[in-house]
Amino acid sequence: MPELPEVEVVARTIASEISGKVIEEVEVFWPKIVNYPDDVEEFKLNIKGQKIGQIRRTGKYLRIEIGDHFELVVHFRMTGKFQRIVKQDKNQKHLHLFFHFVQEEEGLAYIDVRKFGDIFLVPKGEYIRIKGLFHAGVDPLSKDFTFPIFKELIRKKNRHIKAILLDQSMITGLGNYICDEVLWFEGKKGVHPQRLGSSLTDTELKRIFQRIHEVIQESIRLGGNSFRDFSYGEGMKGDFKKMLKMYGRKGEPCFNCGTEIERIIVAGRSTHYCPKCQKNK
Ligand SMILES: [Zn+2]
Repeated sequence: MPELPEVEVVARTIASEISGKVIEEVEVFWPKIVNYPDDVEEFKLNIKGQKIGQIRRTGKYLRIEIGDHFELVVHFRMTGKFQRIVKQDKNQKHLHLFFHFVQEEEGLAYIDVRKFGDIFLVPKGEYIRIKGLFHAGVDPLSKDFTFPIFKELIRKKNRHIKAILLDQSMITGLGNYICDEVLWFEGKKGVHPQRLGSSLTDTELKRIFQRIHEVIQESIRLGGNSFRDFSYGEGMKGDFKKMLKMYGRKGEPCFNCGTEIERIIVAGRSTHYCPKCQKNK
C-alpha cells in the first residue's frame, strides 16, 4: 500500500505534469469508485471544463484543486494509481476514470485492480465526508510536526508504540514499513514495537522523531517504495530495498548486531524487530 512518501512522490510528479491543464471531460467506467458525490453525473459535470490547480498531499491523501471551488481527493488504498496514457489506450481492464485534457492526446487514468481506492470531489477544504482526512492527525512533513507535539502525542498513551504510530488520527501518513523502520536505530538500542508510549524516555522519543524524518526523506528521495502496483517511482526498487533495515527482513541478520530479525503481529500488522537491539523492557 502506498504510504506517505509514495503519495508525496505521486503529488510532486503529477503536479509537474498536469497542474494548469484544463480538463475537457472525465469519463467514468466504474461509477462505484467515486465515493462522493453519489451522483456520478454531478461528479462529471463539476469537473468538466475546469482547470487543475495546486496538487498537495495530507497523510496518504492526494488533493487536487479542480477549478476555483472543488478538490478531487484520492486515497489509493491497496492498488490505486494514476498513470498518464494516450486516449487510444483507455479501454483497458481496471481503468476506472480517464481525464481528457483540452487539445491533448495524453490524459490521466486512474487504474485500480482491486477497486479499494477512494475518490471524492468535494467543495474546497470541506472534508467532513472524508472521515480519514477530516480526522487526520498531524502530517510529519508539516511545520506542526514538532518534537514537543510528538512527545505529547506518544507519552499520554498506554498503547503499544507501533499502534500509536499507525493511528492516522494521531500522526497521519505513517504506515507499516515506516513504523518498523523508525523503531530501529543505527548503532544504538532501539525500541520494541510493543513498548507502551507512556514508558518511552525523552532520548528514545527524540530518536524515533528523528528516524521518522530520516526514513520519509530517504524514501521520497528514492522515489518511494516501489510496490508492484505503484506506478510512479518504478525502477527504484533495488535502492529502496537497500534502505530498509527491518521491514521484510524476517530471519535476516540485524545490521547492528547480526541477530536474526523476528516478525510478530502488533496492532494487527506484520511487525519486524531485532530481539537483541529492541528489548521489551
Ligand atoms: Zn540487533
